[in-house]
Formats: sequence, structure tokens, C-alpha cells
Amino acid sequence: MMDAGRHPRIQLHTLAEVVGLDGEAGAFRARVRQRPRFVDPDRCTGCGTCTEACPSVRPNPYDAGLKAAKAIDRPFPQAVPAAFHIDRDACLNEEFLVCERCVQACEPGAIDFDDRTRHYDLDVGAVVVATGFDELDPTELLAFGYGRAPNVMTGLEFERLLCATGPTRGHIQRPTDGARPGRVVFVNCVGSRGEGGRPYCSRYCCLNSVKSALLAHDHEPDLEECVLLYTDMRAAGRGYDAFVERGLGHEKIRHVHGRPAKIQEDPATHDLTLWVEDTATGRPTKITAGRVVLSTAAIPARGSAELADVLGVELHPQGFYRRRDPDNPPAELSR
Ligand code: SF4
Ligand code: SF4
Repeated sequence: MMDAGRHPRIQLHTLAEVVGLDGEAGAFRARVRQRPRFVDPDRCTGCGTCTEACPSVRPNPYDAGLKAAKAIDRPFPQAVPAAFHIDRDACLNEEFLVCERCVQACEPGAIDFDDRTRHYDLDVGAVVVATGFDELDPTELLAFGYGRAPNVMTGLEFERLLCATGPTRGHIQRPTDGARPGRVVFVNCVGSRGEGGRPYCSRYCCLNSVKSALLAHDHEPDLEECVLLYTDMRAAGRGYDAFVERGLGHEKIRHVHGRPAKIQEDPATHDLTLWVEDTATGRPTKITAGRVVLSTAAIPARGSAELADVLGVELHPQGFYRRRDPDNPPAELSR
């Protein structure tokens, strides 16, 4: 991302979205709306003094809400541009309550509350739609206990725990007692492949759970074991199958062919018990865990349908962008 920010022939339009698209391939005109940053990126040095002075705290969306951020902040340490940004929904500086601590703290005078939304056009030859995806909220899948048992979390939340800049600086602490769990169980296909109304395989989660299990052992050498509950291992992509083989060969990573029927929490210790049918042996089995990580289904990114309208492209019934030809080439949409 930093290379893109420095590249002489790449122009980044941050906080911006395409709100209209005319023309045709080779000669498009894109209408762009750019939201205000309220901080002048040319003046901001990224010193962080404003963040220290700001009294307003909100959950940091980049850390899946597991870490706090201030109303004026940089979304994450490597963000490009490095300039800070004010979240107006969290900022206290509204008509009825004036707070200007960031203005007073900022020596270069970078804060600009008069910054406004801008509209402009761009002439472009092609449009690449790269929305990413969202995670299914597993709260609705009651058997997994997410939202009720604090030691059950999603794969994305676990990924933030494993990150050195994340809420626990790379350690797998439990929110209930701050302790390291003895055993971590990963449950694949949560909401995918028929569960939770999503008939498709999400394609990223088998690989992600193997990667997270390897990293968990790397970060916590005392971890007793990681157990992967899976439907079947699908590693789509070059070299991924070999990676999965390596992960499953780890002496402290065990894989069990089956899905849990339910996950129960001990209300005193907050430990978890998973009731699973091991479909390889046909026997029901009980696994206890300090943490459970749900590999939740990938769903279309929020706003995908609205963007499809703007771009004049078709959606698949599942809400993802429909390819012009399902066989070939993979990157062309209906327009
Ligand atoms: Fe520093 Fe001002 Fe930028 Fe905040 S807005 S990081 S105080 S230069
Ligand atoms: Fe934070 Fe106050 Fe500045 Fe808003 S005006 S970003 S609440 S210091």
C-alpha cells in the first residue's frame, strides 16, 4: 500500500466512492464523491498529539471492535496517507457541545472543521471493482454460542488477536480472565455450505484456520493443541494445498471430520464444551476448549448492491458480482 501511495503514476482518492459511471470500456467518466477528512493531509505530520488530547473513545473497526480508538485517529499504523482523520459520528464537536481539544493540540494547524464533501469527475479507461467481503454475523446461529459466550469469537477477531499491533499484542488472551487458553478449537464452514442460508463454500476459511492455528502455536509455545473441525479441507489456490498439508502435519494441530451440534459454556469458568459427531469414525465425541474460533461465511460487502446499481453491473443471486462468462475470463463483469 505504501508503494502505491508513493508511485508517481498512481493517484489515491481516499474516503472517496464512485457515485455514477457513464460511457463505455476505454472511455468511462466516473463521478466521485469524497467525504471530508477534517484534517489537512498536507499539514498533518502524523504526530498523534491530537489523539492523546481527544476525550472521545469508540471501538476501532479495524480491530473488529476489540480495541479502542479516539474520534481523531489514524485507522491503523500503516494507513496511506498517514494523515489522521476525524470520525464525525464519534466527535463531540457538535452544535450543542463544543470540544476543540484537537485544534488546540495540533501545532501545524491541520484540523479543519470546515472541510466539506467534494464531487468531481474522473476520465478512466476501465474500472476494477475490489470491494472485499464481509463476515456473516454468527449471532443468529444459536448453537455456536457467539454473542453469549465471550470466549467464542470469529476468525477475523482471532486474526486481530494474533497481530502484534492488535488488542492483545499478538497473545491469545481470553476476555473473561486474561488467561491463555489450553486448547483452541476452530470450527470451519460456519454459515457456509448450507448452514445459515448460504449454500456456497466461502473458499478462504479452511486455509485461514490452518494459518491461524500455525500462528497461534508460534505466538504461544505453551498452547496445548489446536483442533480443527472441518467438513472437508478445501484449499483453493496455488500452493495452498501444500500449506494445509504442512499445517495438519504439525504435532500440536489435530483435525476432526465433523461439525459441532452445539457449544456449551461453563458459567463458572467460561470454558467451552463442543459436542461433535466425528464422521470419520461415526462416534459422538466431546471436546473441551478455552477458546472457540468460528470460520464464518464470506458474504457480499455492505453496499455491494448499491454499487452494482451505480456501475450498471449484474449481481449473482447470492449478492456477489456476476461474471460475464462463468467459465472465462474470471475478471470480467456484465459491463
Ligand atoms: Fe499531529 Fe495535528 Fe496531524 Fe493530529 S492532526 S497527528 S496533532 S499534525
Ligand atoms: Fe476529539 Fe474533541 Fe477533536 Fe472531536 S473536537 S476529534 S472530540 S478532540
